[in-house]
Amino acid sequence: MRLSKLFLPITKDLPSDATIKSHQLMLRTGMIKQSAAGIYSWLPLGFKVMKKIEQIVREEQNKIGAQELLMPTIQSAEIWKESGRYDDYGEEMLRIKDRQGREILYGPTNEELITDIFRSSIKSYKSLPQILYHIQWKFRDEIRPRFGVMRCREFYMKDAYSFDVDDESAKLSYNKMFYAYLKTFKRLGLEAIPMAADTGPIGGDLSHEFVILAETGESKIFADKSILKIKLDKYNEDKSSLEKMRNEFSEIYAVTDEKFSKKEFDKKVKKDNQMITKGIEVGHIFYFSDKYSKPLNCFVDTKDGKKTSIKMGSYGIGVSRLVAAIIEAKFLNNKMKWPKSVSPFDVVIIPNFNKNNTENLKKAEKVYEELKKQNIDALLDDTDESMSSKFTKHELIGIPNQIIIGSKSTSDKFEYKNDKDVSSIISLEEIKSKLI
Ligand code: ATP
Ligand code: MG
Repeated sequence: MRLSKLFLPITKDLPSDATIKSHQLMLRTGMIKQSAAGIYSWLPLGFKVMKKIEQIVREEQNKIGAQELLMPTIQSAEIWKESGRYDDYGEEMLRIKDRQGREILYGPTNEELITDIFRSSIKSYKSLPQILYHIQWKFRDEIRPRFGVMRCREFYMKDAYSFDVDDESAKLSYNKMFYAYLKTFKRLGLEAIPMAADTGPIGGDLSHEFVILAETGESKIFADKSILKIKLDKYNEDKSSLEKMRNEFSEIYAVTDEKFSKKEFDKKVKKDNQMITKGIEVGHIFYFSDKYSKPLNCFVDTKDGKKTSIKMGSYGIGVSRLVAAIIEAKFLNNKMKWPKSVSPFDVVIIPNFNKNNTENLKKAEKVYEELKKQNIDALLDDTDESMSSKFTKHELIGIPNQIIIGSKSTSDKFEYKNDKDVSSIISLEEIKSKLI
C-alpha cells in the first residue's frame, strides 16, 4: 500500500474526553472514528489490526477443538424471558420493538441463544463435549462509555460456550480454554495474568479474568510477582498437563479488588513479592454449570439412561478492546510499536526525496515491488513531506520494521531498523530474510 493512497484521516484536534494514550493514538492515526457516544467506525488501519487479532484468537480456539459459528446480533426477547434474565439484565440491554410490536434486543452476550441452539438438537451424552464460539458485535448500553474502544457500547467479542455432561468433564473444557487464552495473549505480545474472579452464587474457583498490566486499566490488581514467571511451554493439551498448569497458577495469589483481602495477601505473599497495580481486563472465563441449561430445559440422556442438565461455561475475549489494550501495554517514550503478529503492515519504506530529486523514491518503488512479490505487506511512504515529519508520523503509527532510503543507503544496501530501533545497512535479501 502507498501511504499517499491510504485512507488515513488523521484527527489533529483531539476531543477532551480522549484522556488515555490508546484513545488519543487511535484517533490521531486514523484507526477509528466516533460515530455516536460509545459507537465507533473502524477505519482501514484500525480494522486491519483488529482483523489480525481476531484471526489469532480464532486459530487458538480452533486448536483446542472449539468450532466457529455465527449467531445474529439481534435476538428475540423470548429466550431471555425463559432464562429469567430479561428483567435482571437492566438498562445495559438495548431493547427494541419491531414493526409487529415484537420485543427484540441487540445481544449483549449469547448464553441464552446458544443454549436454545443446543437444546433443539443435542439429546445424548454421546454428542458431548462440545465447545462452540463466535466472533460477533455486542451492544451494552454502558452507563459511562469511555476511553475510546476500551469501554464502548458496541464492541467486538469472541464468546465461546462449552457443553459437558458432568462437572469433571466441564473442568477439562475450562482448563483447555484457560490454556488457549494464555497462548492467545502470548501471540499478541501480551503478558496476561489470570486472576481468580468472583463466581457469584455457584462458588468454586472456576472463574478467571485475564488482565494485562497497564497504569490506565480500570481493574485494581493484587498479585504475587512470581505469577509472571510461569512458563507455558512445558504444558500441553493433555488432561493431566492442563491440570498441573492450572494448579501452578492457582497456588499463586492473584486477584482483582472484588476478591481482595489484605490479610490473605500479607499472609500468602512476601512483602517484596507483592505487586499492587492496575490492569485491563481482556478476557473472562466462567463456569456456571446449569444456571442457564436448567431454566431453558436443556437436558441430555446420560450413560445410565437418566436425564441430566448440561453443564456449561462461557468464555469471552474483548477483540476490539484488545486493539486499545495492546497500545496501552506497548507505548513507550512517545513511540508506538505493534507486536509483529498484529502490526497493520510488516514494514514501512521511507525514502528521502523531493520534487527535484526522486532517485530515492525510485529505489523505494523497486524495493516495494520486490517485497510484494514475497507477500510481505509493505507500506511505501511516497508522500512529499520532510523526513522529520515522516519519522514523527511513523513513530505514532508504530510499524515495527523500517527501511530508510536516504544518504546511508548505497546502490544495493539500505538502512534497516528493527522493532528494537537497532539500525543496520544491509542488502534487500537480508532484509527479506528478516521479514519473512
Ligand atoms: P467489564 O468488567 O470490563 O465490564 P465484563 O465482565 O462486563 O467486563 P464480559 O461480559 O466478561 O465483560 O465480556 C468479555 C470481554 O468483553 C471482557 O473481558 C472485555 O474484554 C470485553 N468487554 C466487555 N465490555 C466491554 C465494553 N463495554 N467495551 C469493550 N469491550 C468490552
Ligand atoms: Mg461489564
